[in-house]
Amino acid sequence: MEIPNDTSGSPLPAGPAGNEPVAAPASHLDPGIVHRWIAELDRRLRAAEARLTELDAAIGDADHGANMTRGARSALTAIGEQEGASASRLISAVGYALSRSVGGASGPLYGTWFTALGRNLPEEGPAAAIDVARALVAALEAVQQLGAAEVGDKTMVDALSPASRRALDAADSGADLAGVLRLAVGAAEDGAVATVPLRARRGRASYLGARSEGHQDPGATSAAIVLDALRTAAGA
Ligand code: ADP
Ligand code: MG
Repeated sequence: MEIPNDTSGSPLPAGPAGNEPVAAPASHLDPGIVHRWIAELDRRLRAAEARLTELDAAIGDADHGANMTRGARSALTAIGEQEGASASRLISAVGYALSRSVGGASGPLYGTWFTALGRNLPEEGPAAAIDVARALVAALEAVQQLGAAEVGDKTMVDALSPASRRALDAADSGADLAGVLRLAVGAAEDGAVATVPLRARRGRASYLGARSEGHQDPGATSAAIVLDALRTAAGA
């Protein structure tokens, strides 16, 4: 598959970790970044599958790792068939693929998140930092409309909400796309860790009541991975 705007030939050095794709930080979200995002997400979720399974085994039914890897695989196939599509359309296609292929609570929720993210980006042409930040907020709101979870309920919203708000604050203050994504990922990771002491009030984990305390939420954990894969794809 041809990946537009592939910067793998860039002379820029790799980041300190040395294992991330060599790419200049992107100023705008374009189709090439979306293709790299989903490829990176597929790799990252396969690497994290055992951990996500383990987290969901503790407070759920141990299927979150498998759900997410299945979803990423079908998303990758779906966007491979969308030659020439805009970033907006590609991301919506990811959403439809997730809704179709992933069962459980996370399928419809992530399906909704990606579909709303795509729908709220400019339909054609690259998206600037502020467009991406506003779309992240809209995608969060769509997830909350569907799942009715608030921050503190020990769900993916605990990662997505602070990430979206931090992204919007940063973009409003003039941060570029790379800066916006770095801050969003930091907020998502902090939000995921902060779910550990919480008692689940939504989803399957809520059936456990107090026994859900002391475990990190699997969906908040995967949400941080979703955003971190985007950060990597944008070279940030
Ligand atoms: P299931 O719970 O159906 O087995 P998964 O294991 O794939 O689905 O996903 C579980 C994750 O889904 C939880 O860790 C939580 O983050 C998220 N989740 C569950 N219910 C909701 C909800 N109502 N709103 C937001 N996120 C939710
Ligand atoms: Mg589960």
